[in-house]
Amino acid sequence: MIKTDILIIGAGPTGLFTVFEAGLLKMKCHLIDALPQAGGQCSELYPKKPIYDIPGFPEILAGDLTSNLLEQGKQFQPGFTLGERAETIEKQEDGSFIVTTNKGTQHHAPIIAIAGGLGSFEPRKPKLESIEKYEDKGVNYFIKDPEVYRDKKVIIAGGGDSALDWSIFLADVASEVTLVHRRNEFRGALDSVERAQELKLLNKINIITPAEITALHGEDKIEGVSVTKDGETKIIEADAFIPLFGLSPKLGPIGDWGLEIEKNAIKVDTVDYQTNIPGIYAIGDVNTYEGKLKLILCGFHEATLMCQSAYKRLNPGKKFVLKYTTVSGINGFDGSRKESPKAVVKAIV
Ligand SMILES: Cc1cc2nc3c(=O)[nH]c(=O)nc-3n(C[C@H](O)[C@H](O)[C@H](O)COP(=O)(O)OP(=O)(O)OC[C@H]3O[C@@H](n4cnc5c(N)ncnc54)[C@H](O)[C@@H]3O)c2cc1C
Repeated sequence: MIKTDILIIGAGPTGLFTVFEAGLLKMKCHLIDALPQAGGQCSELYPKKPIYDIPGFPEILAGDLTSNLLEQGKQFQPGFTLGERAETIEKQEDGSFIVTTNKGTQHHAPIIAIAGGLGSFEPRKPKLESIEKYEDKGVNYFIKDPEVYRDKKVIIAGGGDSALDWSIFLADVASEVTLVHRRNEFRGALDSVERAQELKLLNKINIITPAEITALHGEDKIEGVSVTKDGETKIIEADAFIPLFGLSPKLGPIGDWGLEIEKNAIKVDTVDYQTNIPGIYAIGDVNTYEGKLKLILCGFHEATLMCQSAYKRLNPGKKFVLKYTTVSGINGFDGSRKESPKAVVKAIV
């Protein structure tokens, strides 16, 4: 059982910044995310796109914002349960909660911060007979560890950044990489499309377009796939089939937790972003209130106010004085200390 002060569901920018704000108030955080990496929409949907409306950053790549947020929170030693979806919640007699993931990992915390954005991203699965039978037996919708594919024959399907980037990456890992896309055109960063083209010419990636995967083969695991091009179908040997058709957001299991929902978002009050269940907050894109804007900076603001409220819940009666980080410095949970240099008191003679 993982124990923490604030259990954050969703490691997008809002959840990541919560770690920092909570840390300033000496509260420890643990994050759960259905995706295999932190960053939410920023890292999953547009890591290489510049964002222009983060205060203090005239321009920052979404992927770099994620790295910076992770770096900023690191000193407060957050825990992570990645690649698992928060599935159920049980209120305990003392008012705390146990949240269990789809893989059975249990987390216990007095405060829950739902920072689930548009919901947990579910992979878009191709409509192929018996695909479920092969899931985790050669069929994977995410690549968690590329080493799994070392010296294997890999078929990737899709025409976006993920399909291109992983094909390029695995060209040096797998024994054979075949990229199948139903159109001739790819929708990805120009440098990725050009690199894939180069690797094709070097025979390091086999690209088949316009074509579709039409059947999967194998006894207990994937052994081959049928590829149909121009009405003709042939079977290609494969150890792995990775369809990368993007993700569709779904509020998912959180929608069944007894929270007040409006337009697929969680209703909160605007004092501290608490839901209708005391102790459960909802911050960032996942919440709704009058005037709500789904912007990163709004998530940061909500995380800050939510942490103040959580602190009061965890420390009833304890006086809290807001201190600027420039004045108080920061004491990391890892023993680190950051502070601005002190003024020197010295006579000038
Ligand atoms: C293409 C694009 C461009 C954008 N440009 C800008 C911009 O320029 N400026 C701006 O301010 N905003 C922009 N946005 C919006 C911005 O990305 C969102 O406002 C922001 O990501 C919200 O952050 P969040 O942390 O609240 O949620 P998200 O980033 O959506 O993260 C939520 C996380 O929660 C996880 N999750 C949800 N449910 C569960 C569950 N049950 N169990 C486990 N994990 C769960 C999800 O997997 C996800 O990783 C853009 C969005 C897109 C798609």
